[in-house]
Amino acid sequence: MNKKLYVLSGSSGVGKGTVLKGFLKRNPNFMLSISCTTRKPREGEIDGVNYFFMTTDEFQKCINEDKFLEWTNFAGNYYGTKRKYIDQCLSDGKDIILEIDTVGALNVKRQMPEAVLIFIAPPSLDALEQRLRGRHTEDEETIQKRLNEVKSEIERGKSFDYTIVNDEIDLAISQLEQIINKEMKNA
Ligand code: 5GP
Repeated sequence: MNKKLYVLSGSSGVGKGTVLKGFLKRNPNFMLSISCTTRKPREGEIDGVNYFFMTTDEFQKCINEDKFLEWTNFAGNYYGTKRKYIDQCLSDGKDIILEIDTVGALNVKRQMPEAVLIFIAPPSLDALEQRLRGRHTEDEETIQKRLNEVKSEIERGKSFDYTIVNDEIDLAISQLEQIINKEMKNA
């Protein structure tokens, strides 16, 4: 059976990290790609676990050496997915999941049309703003930058294969499971 690449995207504060965590807890056989970023670690984030934290020079070097499957600049920081890990998982016969922004997701789809794109949408824009502010991980300038991205993210999300509205977390996790089970059956 062919193994697949699943890409989960959605705006900041939409809860995609929580949905993904819930899914991986129930499905530990899935591999999660760890991205590289030039963003500073948030409190509690660990290098090599949450991200590979890099300087801009290190990131640029990886771009020059064509190490990224995709990369983007999101709200002032660089983020990228190393191609080596993805290729390795797929050739080892493992399903893999990426949590990246909508620009990156569409770039992956261009290179790997068989990738399955799943967009996590907020129940409303107000709910999204409340969640983003409520987690207290960003300053006001960063919150504004992230909110400015939301409309274009929702627009890009329209060309994804699936959309899940994250109104109730357990329901969103079950919907993600249903989508992935269906895709696995068709693989
Ligand atoms: P955060 O700074 O909140 O961890 O992530 C900001 C945005 O960058 C999120 O939408 C997240 O999904 C996205 N992101 C994380 N890693 C990558 C990556 O490797 N590539 C791309 N294109 N986006 C990423």
